[in-house]
Formats: sequence, C-alpha cells, structure tokens
Amino acid sequence: MIQLYIPLGFLGVLYREIKQSLTDLDKMFVLLEKEREIADAPDAQPLALDGPPAVKFESVRFAYEPAREILHGVSFEIPPGKTVAVVGPSGSGKSTLARLLYRFYDVGNQQGTGPHGAGRILINGQDIRDVTQSSVRQAIGIVPQDTVLFNDTIEYNILYGKPDAGHEAAVAAARAAHIHSFIEKLPLGYRTMVGERGLKLSGGEKQRVAIARTLLKNPPIVIFDEATSALDSANERAIQAELKSAARNKTTLVIAHRLSTVVDAHEILVLVNGEIVERGRHAQLVSSGGIYAGMWALQQSGAD
Ligand code: ATP
Repeated sequence: MIQLYIPLGFLGVLYREIKQSLTDLDKMFVLLEKEREIADAPDAQPLALDGPPAVKFESVRFAYEPAREILHGVSFEIPPGKTVAVVGPSGSGKSTLARLLYRFYDVGNQQGTGPHGAGRILINGQDIRDVTQSSVRQAIGIVPQDTVLFNDTIEYNILYGKPDAGHEAAVAAARAAHIHSFIEKLPLGYRTMVGERGLKLSGGEKQRVAIARTLLKNPPIVIFDEATSALDSANERAIQAELKSAARNKTTLVIAHRLSTVVDAHEILVLVNGEIVERGRHAQLVSSGGIYAGMWALQQSGAD
C-alpha cells in the first residue's frame, strides 16, 4: 500500500506542478527546457525601453555542456525596427540564438568566463544579464516552431497573456494573423475547444494563433522561429504576410527555413556549425555565389 501510495502521491505533485506551470508560458518553457539556469543579479533593474530597441550580439560563445561549444563567437546587430534573418543547416545553432536572447540561458558571467560561454547580448546597450529576466521576456514576443495550445477555447489561447483584452481584441488579432475566417467557420467559433483534448490544429494554424498572441502582446522585439514543416505555396505566402504584420516596426529576429521568408531582411546571416560564414542582403548573397546562393538555387528549383 505504501509502495503504491508514494508513486501516486508523486504523480499528484507532478500533475499539480505541471498544471500550475501551464498557467505561465515562461514556466512552461522552463519545464520543457527542464531547468532554470539563470538568476537575476541582486541589483537588477527592469529593461529601459522607449520604442523598438537595437539588439546586439557581441562575440557570443555558448555551450549547453562545457565540452561542446555550439556558438563560436557570433556577432550581429538588429537596428531598431529592422529584421535580421538567420539561415543554415539543422543543428547549426539558430534556435540557440533565440533562446539566449529570451534568456533561457545566460552566456556566462559578467567577465565572460562562465561555464556556458562568453560575449554579451545587449538590448539598447543594456546587457540582458544586468536587467530582470521578466522585463526581458516582457519585451519579447516569441512565435515558436511548434506552439503548445492550452486545453481551452481558441479565444482563451489567443488572449493568453492578455486575458482582459476582450473578445473584440481577440478577433482583431485573429484577423491580422489570418486565422479569423478559419475560426468563424467552426461551429462554436471562438468558443471551440482546442489543444490535446479539443480540436487539433495544423502546424500553420497553431503558428497563426501564436502570431495573434504576439500581435496582442505588442512587444517591441519579435522572435519568429519558422516551422520546418513544408507548406504549400499559398500557405507560405499567407504566413509571410502574417509575419510582416507581426514584425511591423518591431526589432525582429527570424529563424528561417524557407528563404522566401528572408528576401526583405535588413541582413541575412548564414550560420554553419555555430559560426556566421556569410552575411548580407539577399541580392548580395545570391550574386556572391556562396552557400546562400546554392541554397537559393536549390529552393528555387523546388528541391528541399
Ligand atoms: P534546427 O534548424 O534543426 O531547428 P538549429 O540550427 O536551430 O536547428 P539548435 O536547436 O540551436 O539548432 O541546436 C544547436 C546544437 O545544440 C544541436 O547540436 C543540438 O543538439 C544542441 N542542443 C540544443 N539544445 C540543447 C540542450 N538543451 N542541451 C544540449 N544540447 C543542445
């Protein structure tokens, strides 16, 4: 009996922990990432912002495990309100850049000699390790590759993070994210239950819900981690339009798998094995005949 009781008790604790965690997206990410590795400095102040900020990575090196460095000194800047896109093979470290900007991990201690790496990430000149983690996350909207939906209505999911915004705001955000007409056609409309126990949405539809959420949150910085799953060209064009509306006047980092998403970017970074091997604007990179030009030619020919 005791033997049975203990695991059940443990499951109860785990269930409560997960349920509680699901009330907070940040905590959910932490759950997925298993551990919270960073803490605020005792004198940390909130990030000071006034409009879309500049985001700067300065010689960022990073290792999840000390023996295996993933980023080997990455430097780039996203000017206020501009978009920088990162492309490159799977495993090259693209999503790691996004995780560092969102402060899932810190890049080492203030001397840059910590176990996890070195360098600095600055938002408007402020080292993100010197300000509170919550203010950094408040300033950033993430549209992840695979959005986790809560077992609740689609409206709840859109309003998540700003529940008081109300129905009209949810509809406006859904319209801008091009998911309103899909929702309208559902028998229960905005009251349709979604998530594991409700209506299952496709990857593209879930990403639109995440875009709607981000539009409502209206953060000055947006990270868009493009879904890897193949989309038909109509869907691809729609997602690009949505991305444009989510990124308007925002400092944006796009992790792209389809190069058509990045043609208008202020700068494109080609990341290979944790190093930027090419950078520039689309036309420049295509004419230089390097890795990016090869990727472009391949995607134009319809091959993956
Ligand atoms: P994809 O295009 O497939 O999403 P990516 O370029 O975004 O790939 P990352 O997710 O940044 O790549 O991963 C870079 C490397 O870091 C990979 O080799 C991956 O195995 C490793 N990695 C990612 N997350 C962790 C982690 N939490 N612990 C240890 N290693 C990790």
